[in-house]
Amino acid sequence: MASNYPYPPALDAGLETERLSQTIKDWSIANGLAVRPPPALVGQNQDPEGILAINAPVTLFPSPFPKSCFEEAKAIQTSYNELYARISQDEEFLGRLVQEVAGGDEFIAKLWETHLKVKEEGYVQNLSLGLFRSDYMVHQDGDHLQIKQVEFNTIASSFGGLSAQTSLLHQHLAKTEYPLLTTPIAPSTLNLPPNTSARSLAAGLAAAYQAYGPSALNHPTCVLFIVQDGERNIFDQRHLEYALQQSSIPVFRLPFSQLLTHTTLASTPHRQLLYHLPHNPSRTFEVAVSYLRAGYGPGDYPSPESWTARHRIETSNTIACPTILTQLAGMKKVQQVLATPPALASGPSTLGKFIPDEAKSAALWKTFTNIYPLDGSSPAGQEARRLATDPTECLKYVMKPQREGGGNNFYKGAIPEQLKKVPEEHWNSFILMELITPPAVQNTILRQGKLEQGGVICELGVYGTCLWDQKTGEVKHNEQAGYLLRTKGDQSEEGGVAAGFGCMDSVALV
Ligand code: ADP
Ligand code: MG
Ligand code: MG
Repeated sequence: MASNYPYPPALDAGLETERLSQTIKDWSIANGLAVRPPPALVGQNQDPEGILAINAPVTLFPSPFPKSCFEEAKAIQTSYNELYARISQDEEFLGRLVQEVAGGDEFIAKLWETHLKVKEEGYVQNLSLGLFRSDYMVHQDGDHLQIKQVEFNTIASSFGGLSAQTSLLHQHLAKTEYPLLTTPIAPSTLNLPPNTSARSLAAGLAAAYQAYGPSALNHPTCVLFIVQDGERNIFDQRHLEYALQQSSIPVFRLPFSQLLTHTTLASTPHRQLLYHLPHNPSRTFEVAVSYLRAGYGPGDYPSPESWTARHRIETSNTIACPTILTQLAGMKKVQQVLATPPALASGPSTLGKFIPDEAKSAALWKTFTNIYPLDGSSPAGQEARRLATDPTECLKYVMKPQREGGGNNFYKGAIPEQLKKVPEEHWNSFILMELITPPAVQNTILRQGKLEQGGVICELGVYGTCLWDQKTGEVKHNEQAGYLLRTKGDQSEEGGVAAGFGCMDSVALV
Protein backbone atom coordinates (compact mmCIF):
# COMPACT_ATOMS: atom_id res chain seq x y z
CA MET A 1 0.00 0.00 0.00
CA ALA A 2 2.64 2.51 -1.07
CA SER A 3 1.56 6.12 -0.63
CA ASN A 4 2.53 6.99 -4.21
CA TYR A 5 0.01 4.50 -5.58
CA PRO A 6 -2.01 6.59 -8.07
CA TYR A 7 -5.33 5.01 -7.13
CA PRO A 8 -8.00 6.04 -6.19
CA PRO A 9 -7.94 9.33 -8.09
CA ALA A 10 -8.77 12.59 -6.33
CA LEU A 11 -11.60 14.03 -8.40
CA ASP A 12 -12.25 17.75 -8.74
CA ALA A 13 -15.77 18.91 -8.12
CA GLY A 14 -17.40 19.06 -11.52
CA LEU A 15 -19.35 17.13 -14.06
CA GLU A 16 -17.49 13.84 -13.73
CA THR A 17 -17.86 13.77 -9.94
CA GLU A 18 -21.52 14.64 -10.29
CA ARG A 19 -22.03 11.87 -12.78
CA LEU A 20 -20.31 9.31 -10.55
CA SER A 21 -22.29 10.44 -7.48
CA GLN A 22 -25.55 10.29 -9.38
CA THR A 23 -24.83 6.76 -10.60
CA ILE A 24 -24.07 5.68 -7.02
CA LYS A 25 -27.19 7.35 -5.64
CA ASP A 26 -29.45 5.60 -8.12
CA TRP A 27 -27.72 2.20 -8.09
CA SER A 28 -27.80 2.18 -4.28
CA ILE A 29 -31.54 2.72 -4.01
CA ALA A 30 -32.24 0.38 -6.92
CA ASN A 31 -30.24 -2.37 -5.17
CA GLY A 32 -30.96 -1.82 -1.50
CA LEU A 33 -27.63 -0.31 -0.48
CA ALA A 34 -29.75 1.88 1.75
CA VAL A 35 -30.81 2.80 5.28
CA ARG A 36 -33.87 4.49 6.76
CA PRO A 37 -33.24 8.24 7.16
CA PRO A 38 -32.23 9.60 10.58
CA PRO A 39 -34.90 11.90 12.08
CA ALA A 40 -32.30 14.70 12.06
CA LEU A 41 -32.31 14.54 8.24
CA VAL A 42 -36.04 14.50 7.53
CA GLY A 43 -37.33 16.12 10.74
CA GLN A 44 -39.09 14.41 13.67
CA ASN A 45 -42.19 12.46 12.61
CA GLN A 46 -41.76 13.50 8.98
CA ASP A 47 -41.95 9.93 7.71
CA PRO A 48 -45.03 8.65 9.56
CA GLU A 49 -45.71 6.00 6.92
CA GLY A 50 -42.16 4.65 7.06
CA ILE A 51 -41.61 4.89 3.31
CA LEU A 52 -38.33 6.76 3.04
CA ALA A 53 -34.90 5.28 2.39
CA ILE A 54 -31.59 7.01 1.75
CA ASN A 55 -28.22 5.88 0.41
CA ALA A 56 -25.93 4.17 2.87
CA PRO A 57 -22.71 6.20 3.08
CA VAL A 58 -20.19 4.70 0.68
CA THR A 59 -16.81 5.43 -0.92
CA LEU A 60 -16.70 6.50 -4.58
CA PHE A 61 -13.95 3.92 -5.19
CA PRO A 62 -13.06 0.61 -3.56
CA SER A 63 -10.09 1.35 -1.29
CA PRO A 64 -6.72 -0.24 -2.05
CA PHE A 65 -6.09 -3.05 0.42
CA PRO A 66 -3.06 -5.37 0.62
CA LYS A 67 -3.89 -8.69 -0.97
CA SER A 68 -1.72 -10.70 1.43
CA CYS A 69 -3.53 -9.18 4.43
CA PHE A 70 -6.95 -9.83 2.92
CA GLU A 71 -6.12 -13.43 2.15
CA GLU A 72 -4.61 -14.04 5.56
CA ALA A 73 -7.70 -12.67 7.31
CA LYS A 74 -9.97 -14.92 5.27
CA ALA A 75 -7.77 -17.98 5.68
CA ILE A 76 -7.77 -17.88 9.50
CA GLN A 77 -11.49 -17.29 9.94
CA THR A 78 -12.41 -20.93 10.44
CA SER A 79 -9.75 -21.16 13.18
CA TYR A 80 -11.27 -18.10 14.81
CA ASN A 81 -14.71 -19.73 14.60
CA GLU A 82 -13.32 -22.81 16.28
CA LEU A 83 -11.60 -20.74 18.97
CA TYR A 84 -14.77 -18.89 19.90
CA ALA A 85 -16.90 -22.04 19.78
CA ARG A 86 -14.50 -23.61 22.29
CA ILE A 87 -14.46 -20.52 24.51
CA SER A 88 -18.27 -20.58 24.53
CA GLN A 89 -18.13 -24.14 25.82
CA ASP A 90 -15.79 -23.25 28.68
CA GLU A 91 -18.24 -22.00 31.27
CA GLU A 92 -15.66 -22.03 34.03
CA PHE A 93 -13.28 -19.78 32.04
CA LEU A 94 -16.05 -17.34 31.10
CA GLY A 95 -17.38 -17.32 34.66
CA ARG A 96 -13.97 -16.32 35.99
CA LEU A 97 -13.69 -13.42 33.55
CA VAL A 98 -17.25 -12.33 34.24
CA GLN A 99 -16.38 -12.13 37.96
CA GLU A 100 -13.45 -9.88 37.12
CA VAL A 101 -15.56 -7.33 35.25
CA ALA A 102 -19.00 -7.72 36.85
CA GLY A 103 -18.25 -5.49 39.86
CA GLY A 104 -18.13 -2.46 37.58
CA ASP A 105 -20.51 -3.77 34.93
CA GLU A 106 -24.12 -4.51 35.85
CA PHE A 107 -25.02 -5.52 32.31
CA ILE A 108 -22.46 -8.32 32.16
CA ALA A 109 -23.46 -9.36 35.69
CA LYS A 110 -27.11 -9.59 34.62
CA LEU A 111 -26.29 -11.66 31.52
CA TRP A 112 -24.38 -14.10 33.71
CA GLU A 113 -27.21 -14.26 36.23
CA THR A 114 -29.63 -15.11 33.40
CA HIS A 115 -27.31 -17.85 32.18
CA LEU A 116 -27.07 -19.34 35.70
CA LYS A 117 -30.84 -19.36 36.02
CA VAL A 118 -31.20 -21.32 32.78
CA LYS A 119 -28.41 -23.66 33.82
CA GLU A 120 -30.38 -24.47 36.96
CA GLU A 121 -33.52 -25.17 34.90
CA GLY A 122 -31.39 -27.24 32.54
CA TYR A 123 -30.51 -26.14 29.02
CA VAL A 124 -32.68 -28.09 26.55
CA GLN A 125 -30.86 -27.05 23.36
CA ASN A 126 -27.23 -28.10 22.97
CA LEU A 127 -26.72 -26.60 19.51
CA SER A 128 -25.33 -23.12 19.35
CA LEU A 129 -24.96 -20.88 16.30
CA GLY A 130 -22.41 -18.11 15.84
CA LEU A 131 -22.56 -15.54 13.06
CA PHE A 132 -19.23 -13.95 13.89
CA ARG A 133 -17.18 -11.11 12.51
CA SER A 134 -13.49 -10.65 13.20
CA ASP A 135 -12.35 -7.05 12.63
CA TYR A 136 -8.85 -5.96 11.65
CA MET A 137 -6.75 -3.02 10.67
CA VAL A 138 -3.49 -3.19 8.76
CA HIS A 139 -0.44 -2.50 10.88
CA GLN A 140 2.68 -1.30 9.08
CA ASP A 141 6.01 -2.31 10.57
CA GLY A 142 8.70 -0.98 8.26
CA ASP A 143 7.90 -2.61 4.93
CA HIS A 144 5.98 -5.42 6.53
CA LEU A 145 2.19 -5.27 6.54
CA GLN A 146 0.33 -7.35 9.10
CA ILE A 147 -3.37 -7.49 10.01
CA LYS A 148 -4.05 -6.78 13.66
CA GLN A 149 -7.37 -7.66 15.23
CA VAL A 150 -9.49 -4.78 16.50
CA GLU A 151 -12.15 -7.01 18.07
CA PHE A 152 -14.16 -10.20 17.60
CA ASN A 153 -17.94 -9.87 17.43
CA THR A 154 -20.18 -12.70 18.59
CA ILE A 155 -23.56 -10.95 18.63
CA ALA A 156 -25.46 -8.91 16.01
CA SER A 157 -22.44 -8.75 13.67
CA SER A 158 -23.98 -6.43 11.14
CA PHE A 159 -23.46 -5.16 7.57
CA GLY A 160 -23.17 -8.55 5.87
CA GLY A 161 -26.22 -7.61 3.78
CA LEU A 162 -25.05 -4.15 2.74
CA SER A 163 -21.47 -5.28 2.30
CA ALA A 164 -22.28 -7.73 -0.48
CA GLN A 165 -24.19 -4.93 -2.23
CA THR A 166 -21.24 -2.54 -1.83
CA SER A 167 -18.96 -5.02 -3.58
CA LEU A 168 -21.51 -5.26 -6.40
CA LEU A 169 -21.76 -1.45 -6.62
CA HIS A 170 -18.01 -1.04 -6.98
CA GLN A 171 -17.87 -3.86 -9.55
CA HIS A 172 -20.63 -2.11 -11.49
CA LEU A 173 -18.75 1.20 -11.40
CA ALA A 174 -15.52 -0.52 -12.47
CA LYS A 175 -17.30 -1.81 -15.56
CA THR A 176 -19.36 1.25 -16.46
CA GLU A 177 -18.06 4.48 -14.93
CA TYR A 178 -14.37 4.33 -14.01
CA PRO A 179 -13.31 3.71 -17.65
CA LEU A 180 -15.05 7.00 -18.61
CA LEU A 181 -13.15 9.22 -16.16
CA THR A 182 -10.77 11.90 -17.49
CA THR A 183 -8.00 9.62 -16.23
CA PRO A 184 -9.68 6.33 -17.10
CA ILE A 185 -9.31 3.25 -14.93
CA ALA A 186 -9.43 0.09 -17.04
CA PRO A 187 -11.52 -2.70 -15.45
CA SER A 188 -8.60 -5.12 -15.82
CA THR A 189 -6.43 -3.02 -13.46
CA LEU A 190 -8.80 -3.44 -10.50
CA ASN A 191 -8.74 -6.68 -8.51
CA LEU A 192 -12.19 -6.76 -6.90
CA PRO A 193 -12.80 -10.13 -5.22
CA PRO A 194 -16.34 -11.52 -4.95
CA ASN A 195 -18.08 -11.06 -1.62
CA THR A 196 -20.51 -13.72 -0.46
CA SER A 197 -21.37 -12.16 2.92
CA ALA A 198 -25.18 -12.05 2.56
CA ARG A 199 -25.46 -15.51 1.04
CA SER A 200 -22.95 -17.09 3.40
CA LEU A 201 -24.49 -15.65 6.56
CA ALA A 202 -27.88 -16.88 5.36
CA ALA A 203 -26.28 -20.29 4.73
CA GLY A 204 -25.16 -20.35 8.39
CA LEU A 205 -28.70 -19.63 9.54
CA ALA A 206 -30.01 -22.28 7.13
CA ALA A 207 -27.56 -24.87 8.50
CA ALA A 208 -28.91 -24.30 12.02
CA TYR A 209 -32.50 -24.37 10.74
CA GLN A 210 -31.90 -27.75 9.08
CA ALA A 211 -30.10 -29.12 12.15
CA TYR A 212 -33.09 -28.23 14.35
CA GLY A 213 -35.21 -30.69 12.41
CA PRO A 214 -38.99 -30.92 12.19
CA SER A 215 -41.31 -29.78 14.98
CA ALA A 216 -42.28 -32.52 17.43
CA LEU A 217 -45.48 -30.53 17.95
CA ASN A 218 -46.36 -30.56 14.26
CA HIS A 219 -45.96 -26.84 13.77
CA PRO A 220 -44.16 -25.37 10.79
CA THR A 221 -40.68 -24.21 11.86
CA CYS A 222 -39.15 -20.78 11.21
CA VAL A 223 -36.19 -18.48 11.75
CA LEU A 224 -36.96 -15.47 13.94
CA PHE A 225 -34.97 -12.24 13.52
CA ILE A 226 -35.15 -10.50 16.90
CA VAL A 227 -34.59 -6.82 16.22
CA GLN A 228 -34.54 -3.37 17.76
CA ASP A 229 -37.47 -0.95 17.55
CA GLY A 230 -37.07 1.69 14.87
CA GLU A 231 -34.09 -0.11 13.28
CA ARG A 232 -32.62 2.18 10.60
CA ASN A 233 -30.25 -0.44 9.25
CA ILE A 234 -33.18 -2.64 8.27
CA PHE A 235 -32.19 -3.32 4.65
CA ASP A 236 -28.95 -4.91 5.83
CA GLN A 237 -31.09 -7.40 7.74
CA ARG A 238 -33.63 -7.77 4.93
CA HIS A 239 -30.92 -8.92 2.50
CA LEU A 240 -30.19 -11.88 4.81
CA GLU A 241 -33.87 -12.56 5.22
CA TYR A 242 -34.49 -12.59 1.46
CA ALA A 243 -31.51 -14.90 0.92
CA LEU A 244 -33.01 -17.35 3.46
CA GLN A 245 -36.46 -17.12 1.93
CA GLN A 246 -34.96 -18.10 -1.41
CA SER A 247 -34.40 -21.53 0.12
CA SER A 248 -38.06 -21.50 1.22
CA ILE A 249 -37.28 -21.06 4.91
CA PRO A 250 -40.00 -19.07 6.74
CA VAL A 251 -38.51 -15.96 8.35
CA PHE A 252 -40.15 -13.43 10.65
CA ARG A 253 -38.98 -10.22 12.25
CA LEU A 254 -39.97 -9.48 15.81
CA PRO A 255 -38.88 -6.51 17.92
CA PHE A 256 -37.19 -7.73 21.10
CA SER A 257 -39.58 -5.43 23.02
CA GLN A 258 -42.56 -7.50 21.74
CA LEU A 259 -41.09 -10.95 22.26
CA LEU A 260 -43.12 -11.71 25.40
CA THR A 261 -46.35 -10.67 23.65
CA HIS A 262 -46.00 -12.76 20.50
CA THR A 263 -44.19 -15.87 21.70
CA THR A 264 -44.93 -18.60 24.24
CA LEU A 265 -42.99 -21.54 25.61
CA ALA A 266 -44.56 -24.95 25.01
CA SER A 267 -45.28 -26.70 28.30
CA THR A 268 -43.32 -29.79 27.31
CA PRO A 269 -39.95 -30.97 28.63
CA HIS A 270 -38.39 -29.42 25.50
CA ARG A 271 -39.84 -25.95 26.06
CA GLN A 272 -40.18 -25.18 22.34
CA LEU A 273 -40.31 -21.46 21.51
CA LEU A 274 -43.58 -20.76 19.70
CA TYR A 275 -44.19 -17.67 17.59
CA HIS A 276 -47.79 -16.60 17.03
CA LEU A 277 -48.36 -14.39 14.00
CA PRO A 278 -49.38 -10.98 15.41
CA HIS A 279 -52.04 -10.49 12.71
CA ASN A 280 -53.33 -14.05 13.01
CA PRO A 281 -52.39 -15.46 16.44
CA SER A 282 -53.93 -18.87 15.76
CA ARG A 283 -51.13 -19.46 13.21
CA THR A 284 -48.19 -20.79 15.19
CA PHE A 285 -44.60 -21.42 14.09
CA GLU A 286 -41.96 -23.21 16.13
CA VAL A 287 -38.82 -21.09 16.26
CA ALA A 288 -35.93 -23.27 15.13
CA VAL A 289 -33.40 -20.42 15.15
CA SER A 290 -33.46 -17.11 17.04
CA TYR A 291 -31.16 -14.61 15.38
CA LEU A 292 -30.49 -11.67 17.68
CA ARG A 293 -29.92 -8.30 16.08
CA ALA A 294 -30.87 -6.81 19.44
CA GLY A 295 -30.03 -7.53 23.05
CA TYR A 296 -26.32 -6.72 22.81
CA GLY A 297 -26.34 -3.66 25.04
CA PRO A 298 -28.05 -2.31 28.17
CA GLY A 299 -30.25 0.01 26.08
CA ASP A 300 -32.21 -3.02 24.87
CA TYR A 301 -33.14 -3.95 28.45
CA PRO A 302 -35.14 -0.99 29.79
CA SER A 303 -37.27 -3.08 32.17
CA PRO A 304 -37.27 -6.41 34.06
CA GLU A 305 -39.54 -7.76 31.28
CA SER A 306 -36.68 -7.36 28.80
CA TRP A 307 -34.65 -9.77 30.90
CA THR A 308 -37.62 -12.13 31.06
CA ALA A 309 -37.64 -12.03 27.25
CA ARG A 310 -33.94 -12.86 27.04
CA HIS A 311 -34.47 -15.65 29.54
CA ARG A 312 -37.29 -17.04 27.40
CA ILE A 313 -35.03 -17.37 24.38
CA GLU A 314 -32.22 -18.87 26.43
CA THR A 315 -34.32 -21.43 28.29
CA SER A 316 -36.20 -22.58 25.20
CA ASN A 317 -35.36 -25.22 22.62
CA THR A 318 -34.62 -22.62 19.94
CA ILE A 319 -31.06 -22.54 18.55
CA ALA A 320 -29.91 -19.15 19.78
CA CYS A 321 -27.58 -17.01 17.68
CA PRO A 322 -26.00 -16.30 20.05
CA THR A 323 -26.55 -17.93 23.42
CA ILE A 324 -25.58 -15.87 26.46
CA LEU A 325 -22.31 -17.80 26.79
CA THR A 326 -21.43 -17.07 23.16
CA GLN A 327 -22.32 -13.42 23.65
CA LEU A 328 -20.01 -13.33 26.69
CA ALA A 329 -17.22 -14.99 24.71
CA GLY A 330 -17.21 -11.74 22.69
CA MET A 331 -16.31 -9.64 25.74
CA LYS A 332 -13.26 -7.46 25.16
CA LYS A 333 -12.01 -9.06 28.39
CA VAL A 334 -11.76 -12.44 26.59
CA GLN A 335 -9.76 -10.89 23.76
CA GLN A 336 -7.47 -9.29 26.35
CA VAL A 337 -6.82 -12.57 28.16
CA LEU A 338 -5.95 -14.20 24.83
CA ALA A 339 -3.66 -11.35 23.82
CA THR A 340 -1.90 -10.39 27.06
CA PRO A 341 1.83 -10.04 26.28
CA PRO A 342 3.36 -13.42 27.27
CA ALA A 343 6.11 -11.77 29.32
CA LEU A 344 3.42 -10.29 31.57
CA ALA A 345 0.88 -13.13 31.54
CA SER A 346 0.63 -15.09 34.75
CA GLY A 347 0.03 -18.58 33.34
CA PRO A 348 0.50 -20.72 30.25
CA SER A 349 -0.93 -19.52 26.94
CA THR A 350 -4.71 -19.34 27.02
CA LEU A 351 -4.81 -19.44 23.23
CA GLY A 352 -2.84 -22.71 23.22
CA LYS A 353 -5.32 -24.24 25.63
CA PHE A 354 -8.21 -23.62 23.25
CA ILE A 355 -6.30 -24.21 19.99
CA PRO A 356 -3.67 -26.91 20.66
CA ASP A 357 -2.72 -27.15 16.96
CA GLU A 358 0.45 -25.08 16.92
CA ALA A 359 0.32 -23.89 13.33
CA LYS A 360 -3.27 -22.71 13.78
CA SER A 361 -2.65 -20.95 17.08
CA ALA A 362 0.52 -19.28 15.72
CA ALA A 363 -1.51 -17.92 12.80
CA LEU A 364 -4.07 -16.45 15.21
CA TRP A 365 -1.42 -15.14 17.58
CA LYS A 366 0.16 -13.06 14.78
CA THR A 367 -3.05 -11.05 14.53
CA PHE A 368 -3.04 -9.98 18.19
CA THR A 369 -1.81 -6.64 19.38
CA ASN A 370 -0.91 -5.96 23.02
CA ILE A 371 -3.95 -5.81 25.28
CA TYR A 372 -3.76 -5.36 29.04
CA PRO A 373 -6.08 -5.86 31.97
CA LEU A 374 -6.45 -2.95 34.40
CA ASP A 375 -6.46 -4.88 37.64
CA GLY A 376 -4.22 -3.80 40.48
CA SER A 377 -2.62 -7.14 41.25
CA SER A 378 -1.19 -8.86 38.13
CA PRO A 379 2.08 -7.66 36.54
CA ALA A 380 0.19 -6.93 33.30
CA GLY A 381 -2.42 -4.92 35.23
CA GLN A 382 0.20 -2.88 37.03
CA GLU A 383 1.95 -2.08 33.77
CA ALA A 384 -1.39 -1.10 32.22
CA ARG A 385 -2.23 1.20 35.11
CA ARG A 386 1.08 2.96 34.62
CA LEU A 387 0.48 3.32 30.85
CA ALA A 388 -3.13 4.42 31.18
CA THR A 389 -2.47 7.15 33.73
CA ASP A 390 0.71 8.55 32.16
CA PRO A 391 -0.11 11.64 30.05
CA THR A 392 2.32 10.64 27.27
CA GLU A 393 2.07 6.85 27.29
CA CYS A 394 -1.75 6.92 27.23
CA LEU A 395 -1.64 8.51 23.75
CA LYS A 396 -0.80 5.11 22.27
CA TYR A 397 -3.86 3.36 23.70
CA VAL A 398 -7.61 2.92 23.57
CA MET A 399 -9.54 1.87 26.67
CA LYS A 400 -12.64 -0.26 26.17
CA PRO A 401 -15.52 -1.31 28.41
CA GLN A 402 -17.41 -4.59 27.79
CA ARG A 403 -19.79 -3.04 25.27
CA GLU A 404 -20.83 -3.44 21.65
CA GLY A 405 -22.23 -1.21 18.95
CA GLY A 406 -19.73 1.63 18.81
CA GLY A 407 -19.27 4.89 20.69
CA ASN A 408 -18.26 3.32 24.02
CA ASN A 409 -14.46 3.58 24.00
CA PHE A 410 -12.03 6.12 25.45
CA TYR A 411 -9.08 7.21 23.36
CA LYS A 412 -5.67 8.56 24.26
CA GLY A 413 -5.88 11.59 26.57
CA ALA A 414 -9.47 10.74 27.52
CA ILE A 415 -8.25 7.56 29.26
CA PRO A 416 -6.72 9.09 32.42
CA GLU A 417 -9.68 11.49 32.63
CA GLN A 418 -12.15 8.62 32.53
CA LEU A 419 -10.21 6.61 35.10
CA LYS A 420 -10.45 9.54 37.50
CA LYS A 421 -14.24 9.14 37.38
CA VAL A 422 -14.24 5.38 38.03
CA PRO A 423 -13.55 3.92 41.50
CA GLU A 424 -10.25 2.06 41.34
CA GLU A 425 -11.79 -1.28 42.29
CA HIS A 426 -13.82 -1.10 39.05
CA TRP A 427 -10.97 -0.31 36.65
CA ASN A 428 -10.80 -3.98 35.81
CA SER A 429 -14.09 -3.76 33.92
CA PHE A 430 -12.06 -2.03 31.16
CA ILE A 431 -9.23 -3.31 29.02
CA LEU A 432 -6.35 -1.25 27.62
CA MET A 433 -5.39 -1.87 24.00
CA GLU A 434 -2.55 -0.58 21.87
CA LEU A 435 -3.78 1.65 19.04
CA ILE A 436 -3.30 0.22 15.56
CA THR A 437 -2.31 2.96 13.11
CA PRO A 438 -2.94 1.81 9.55
CA PRO A 439 -1.40 3.76 6.70
CA ALA A 440 -4.00 6.24 5.46
CA VAL A 441 -5.16 6.00 1.87
CA GLN A 442 -7.04 8.63 -0.11
CA ASN A 443 -10.67 8.22 -1.01
CA THR A 444 -13.92 10.15 -1.28
CA ILE A 445 -16.97 9.34 0.82
CA LEU A 446 -20.50 10.06 -0.40
CA ARG A 447 -22.59 10.64 2.74
CA GLN A 448 -26.11 12.05 2.64
CA GLY A 449 -25.43 13.45 -0.82
CA LYS A 450 -22.26 15.31 0.23
CA LEU A 451 -18.70 14.40 -0.75
CA GLU A 452 -15.94 14.15 1.85
CA GLN A 453 -12.49 13.80 0.31
CA GLY A 454 -9.25 13.06 2.13
CA GLY A 455 -7.23 10.54 4.10
CA VAL A 456 -9.22 7.51 5.17
CA ILE A 457 -8.59 4.49 7.38
CA CYS A 458 -10.01 1.08 6.55
CA GLU A 459 -11.21 -1.66 8.88
CA LEU A 460 -11.66 -5.11 7.41
CA GLY A 461 -14.20 -7.49 8.93
CA VAL A 462 -14.31 -11.18 8.01
CA TYR A 463 -17.53 -13.05 8.71
CA GLY A 464 -17.64 -16.58 9.98
CA THR A 465 -20.49 -19.00 10.61
CA CYS A 466 -20.22 -21.83 13.08
CA LEU A 467 -22.71 -24.35 14.43
CA TRP A 468 -21.58 -26.58 17.27
CA ASP A 469 -22.80 -28.81 20.07
CA GLN A 470 -22.14 -27.27 23.49
CA LYS A 471 -22.15 -30.68 25.20
CA THR A 472 -20.06 -32.83 22.86
CA GLY A 473 -18.00 -30.07 21.23
CA GLU A 474 -18.84 -31.46 17.79
CA VAL A 475 -18.60 -28.75 15.11
CA LYS A 476 -21.34 -29.26 12.53
CA HIS A 477 -20.68 -26.28 10.29
CA ASN A 478 -17.66 -23.98 10.12
CA GLU A 479 -17.23 -21.52 7.28
CA GLN A 480 -15.61 -18.27 6.31
CA ALA A 481 -18.53 -16.10 5.21
CA GLY A 482 -17.37 -13.11 3.17
CA TYR A 483 -16.14 -9.71 4.27
CA LEU A 484 -16.90 -6.12 5.19
CA LEU A 485 -14.73 -3.09 4.52
CA ARG A 486 -15.60 -0.04 6.58
CA THR A 487 -13.83 3.21 6.03
CA LYS A 488 -13.66 6.39 8.09
CA GLY A 489 -11.93 9.76 7.82
CA ASP A 490 -8.44 9.50 9.33
CA GLN A 491 -9.33 12.12 11.94
CA SER A 492 -12.18 10.06 13.39
CA GLU A 493 -11.55 7.63 16.24
CA GLU A 494 -14.63 5.43 15.86
CA GLY A 495 -15.59 3.80 12.59
CA GLY A 496 -19.12 2.42 13.01
CA VAL A 497 -21.36 2.97 9.98
CA ALA A 498 -24.56 2.72 12.03
CA ALA A 499 -23.10 5.00 14.71
CA GLY A 500 -22.60 7.60 11.94
CA PHE A 501 -18.81 7.69 11.78
CA GLY A 502 -17.80 5.33 8.99
CA CYS A 503 -19.00 4.31 5.58
CA MET A 504 -19.31 1.20 3.43
CA ASP A 505 -16.43 0.29 1.18
CA SER A 506 -14.99 -2.73 -0.63
CA VAL A 507 -11.43 -3.84 -1.32
CA ALA A 508 -9.34 -3.25 -4.43
CA LEU A 509 -6.55 -5.74 -3.79
CA VAL A 510 -3.02 -4.43 -4.32
P1 ADP B 1 -17.39 -2.00 19.21
O1 ADP B 1 -17.63 -3.37 19.72
O2 ADP B 1 -18.18 -0.96 19.92
O3 ADP B 1 -17.49 -1.91 17.71
P2 ADP B 1 -14.50 -1.74 18.79
O4 ADP B 1 -13.50 -2.43 19.63
O5 ADP B 1 -14.70 -2.26 17.42
O6 ADP B 1 -15.85 -1.66 19.61
O7 ADP B 1 -14.08 -0.22 18.70
C1 ADP B 1 -14.82 0.71 17.91
C2 ADP B 1 -13.92 1.40 16.89
O8 ADP B 1 -12.81 2.01 17.55
C3 ADP B 1 -13.30 0.47 15.87
O9 ADP B 1 -14.16 0.25 14.77
C4 ADP B 1 -12.05 1.26 15.46
O10 ADP B 1 -12.36 2.26 14.51
C5 ADP B 1 -11.64 1.92 16.76
N1 ADP B 1 -10.66 1.07 17.46
C6 ADP B 1 -10.91 0.12 18.38
N2 ADP B 1 -9.77 -0.48 18.80
C7 ADP B 1 -8.77 0.10 18.12
C8 ADP B 1 -7.35 -0.08 18.10
N3 ADP B 1 -6.73 -0.96 18.88
N4 ADP B 1 -6.63 0.69 17.25
C9 ADP B 1 -7.22 1.62 16.46
N5 ADP B 1 -8.55 1.84 16.44
C10 ADP B 1 -9.33 1.09 17.26
MG1 MG C 1 -16.30 -2.85 16.31
MG1 MG D 1 -18.07 -5.09 18.57
